[in-house]
Amino acid sequence: MADPDPDPHTKSPKPKSVKPAGVAGECVCEHCDFIRRVLIPEMVHDRYFCEPGSREFVEFDSVDVEHFDRKSNRKNMLHRVTARVKFSGVTHSFPLIIKLPEPHVNLLSSSPFLNEEMFYSKMTLNYGTDGIPKCYLSDLGRYDRPVIVLEDLAARGYTQVDDKLDEDHLKLCMKALATIHGKGLKLRACRFPVFREFYAKLSVPADWLHFHTSTQTGNIRSFEAQDNPGSLDTSLYSALPVDGDLSEKIRKKRDVTTKLELNDFWTICHGNFTRNNLLFRYENGKPSDVKVIDWSTMRYCSPSIDFGHILLQNLPDDRDDNLSTIEAFCRNILRIYLDAVKDEYPEVDRELLEREIIANMPFAYGTIENRVLREAGMMLHTLDRLGSFD
Ligand SMILES: [Zn+2]
Repeated sequence: MADPDPDPHTKSPKPKSVKPAGVAGECVCEHCDFIRRVLIPEMVHDRYFCEPGSREFVEFDSVDVEHFDRKSNRKNMLHRVTARVKFSGVTHSFPLIIKLPEPHVNLLSSSPFLNEEMFYSKMTLNYGTDGIPKCYLSDLGRYDRPVIVLEDLAARGYTQVDDKLDEDHLKLCMKALATIHGKGLKLRACRFPVFREFYAKLSVPADWLHFHTSTQTGNIRSFEAQDNPGSLDTSLYSALPVDGDLSEKIRKKRDVTTKLELNDFWTICHGNFTRNNLLFRYENGKPSDVKVIDWSTMRYCSPSIDFGHILLQNLPDDRDDNLSTIEAFCRNILRIYLDAVKDEYPEVDRELLEREIIANMPFAYGTIENRVLREAGMMLHTLDRLGSFD
């Protein structure tokens, strides 16, 4: 893809501008060392930082590497990197996030790292690159080990929201989510052989309401580890955090609905569509753009899982326990989502998709970890108002 670099000295494994390892708190672990001495110099040499088609003279300048811990990411090792590259003698900085698989992870079987590598190297060819960070490299072997190199969105002003998302944020998220789901539905309908390659690697079963964890294998459990078992919603194991009538209604429904049934609305879902994996940019104090990160949890399932997860976790505060207000809020967000799916894939049956979303939201409830009891009760009441238990 790239022209040969005219400057032979950039091939040197240790260019002069690299500081000796170990000075000034620089980490000398094997991974940082690999990024500093092998990966970035080689990527510069192979013109990964050049515009496509450019023939500009490019050479490696220097690189800073630090470890970067993100709470929601437990499977891959992240590094925050600044790569400096000279273009015809002028230095440009590239703020990067670099992901390496944890050592000893068996990449032969399906793994979170492989999912994400597939997303950036293959799926973006069909899904496009809007709404995600720019990817400079996503490869399993070219540079000695698997690696994903992404732009660091923080350097462009994107930030994570720690509190509940308000309506403006949520609308933006729903449009992004609907685009992802709609593109998948369209791809399956129009280019099935391409779609099949992706979805076959992403099928994971799910249990309704996550009730059966104690008696069944509980695949969702491994989906997102628990940080804080103290705050766990005890309904996972015994009583529901709602009154007798609703509790009885839910139990009756559970007796007939225990497994997510495959149907025509199944699509490729993000799998952990939470505010931890959404980065926002603002204009005039309002969110103007969102980028979705961490595609390692992708799964082939009902779009209701992603939709319900982000909606239920960001229900408006219920100081007056006003269920009508919350129901209206949810229906409005659902309408925005459905309209946006339809924009992406006009052939979709909007009414049936709406039913699919509502009927399967209890599964989304089941994927939410660390539910606070009071909020879990509100989530169940909201699902009831929407008709998920009818
Ligand atoms: Zn290190």
